Formats: sequence, C-alpha cells, structure tokens
Amino acid sequence: MALPPSRLERFARHIVIPEMGGAGQAALAEKYVVMIGLGGIGSPALQYLAAAGVGRLTLIDDGAVELSNLQRQTIYTERDIGHGKAVAARRWLANFDDTLEVTISDARVTSGNAVGIFASADLVLDGTDTFATRLAVSDACVASRVPLLSAAVGRFQGQVGAFRGHLPDEACYRCFVGDAFDAEDCDSCAEDGMLGATAGWVGTLAALQAIKCLIEGVGSLDGPQWGHVQLLDGLAPSLRSFAISKDPACRGCGSAG
Ligand SMILES: [Zn+2]
Repeated sequence: MALPPSRLERFARHIVIPEMGGAGQAALAEKYVVMIGLGGIGSPALQYLAAAGVGRLTLIDDGAVELSNLQRQTIYTERDIGHGKAVAARRWLANFDDTLEVTISDARVTSGNAVGIFASADLVLDGTDTFATRLAVSDACVASRVPLLSAAVGRFQGQVGAFRGHLPDEACYRCFVGDAFDAEDCDSCAEDGMLGATAGWVGTLAALQAIKCLIEGVGSLDGPQWGHVQLLDGLAPSLRSFAISKDPACRGCGSAG
C-alpha cells in the first residue's frame, strides 16, 4: 500500500535505506506489535517503534508511574506520577503520532489471558522484569504461534532474545531458561538496582531487532537471528550472541509440551 506524502516525508531517512525502502516502510505501517512491560526497556522500545511507524500497538502494564521510575523509564514525566503506565504511555504516543493505532491494558499478563491478547499480533515484545511473567508470555507466544522478542536487564548487563518456538526446529524462551523460575520473582530490578542507560541500550536493541522481525522478507534486511540471545555488557562494553537449541522436552514448545 502506498504511503501518503506526509508519511513519506516523516520516514524519508528510513526509505532511503536500500535494505528498507518504501516497501519496508509501508510494511511497518501494517504491522501489529504487542508490548508487555512499559518500564526501562519498554519506554525506549516504544519510542523507537512508534518513531519507525509501526502501525498498531497494544501496550500492557499493570503498574503506575512512581518517582523512582523516572531514572530510567524515559517516556514518563513528573506529571505522570500516580497514573497508570499504560494510560501515560498512550498519552505519550498520542502526542507523538496520533495516526498510530493503540490499545492499552492494565491487566497482569498470565498464561490464562495472554493467548487471547496475542492471537493476531505479528510480534510480542516482552520487557517485563520477572521470570514468571516472561515464561507465561513465552508459553502463550508458542501457543499463539507468534514470534517473541524477550528482553531483560540487570545492573550493567542485558539480553535480547528472538524466539519462534512454535516452529519445529526453533527454541523458545523456556528452552533458554528452563522451568526453575516459574514461581520466582527473583530478578526484579527493585532489589538489584540498574543503571538507567543500560535499560536504554537494551530497549533500543530490542526495537532494532523488532523492526528486523517485522520487515523480514520485505526489504533485504536479515532477520533478528532467530533462536539467538544477544548479551550486552555495559561495564566493559561488548555484545555477544549465542544460539539456543530447542529442548525436545521443553514444557513450552517441545513434543512433551
Ligand atoms: Zn521451548
């Protein structure tokens, strides 16, 4: 579908990239991404996905903006404190580009409700901060046959994994971390602390990987290295990539699942 002149101008710096072109940009306008977790990772990821012209977004977070969030959650301001993050994120988005279609939810994503939410998505981007939620999201992505970018961050380190566990030979997030963490909230940044810019780095890499997912096969960009996890280290800055093998016994995506 052809983009109107105002959109061609807005995305001109994308369109001149040979690997994206007008076709890639038009494809982004047709895509639908579900974002779970509108915190330190979700904030910059949302900004770059919206800036890239991803046409439709669902924003999910059950939290409210707190003063201590502003150190890393870059879409919020002091005015948003006390307001739901999903509502505040929608407000940011409406100011930024009101042609993008957005729905919001302040429900906590569980294995029970996620499959219904994900059903028609092109991609799920998970930036939540607990293993239990990330595993529930992963299982629901496998069940919904929707690709998943799972992003997480610690004090100075982060990771972004790209999974299509619904495919026969590809791993899911559960193949990567196993079952031990289903009941755990052990990696919450509330306890560990986090340098805000680390979350920004992880969130923007997640957005870059998301864009590659969304236009794979349209432009000539390679995909996001499906089945790989990118490990980011901010202390001695480096990026490492490793492949995850499908676990045949995985409860999420294996033959026993
Ligand atoms: Zn699996």
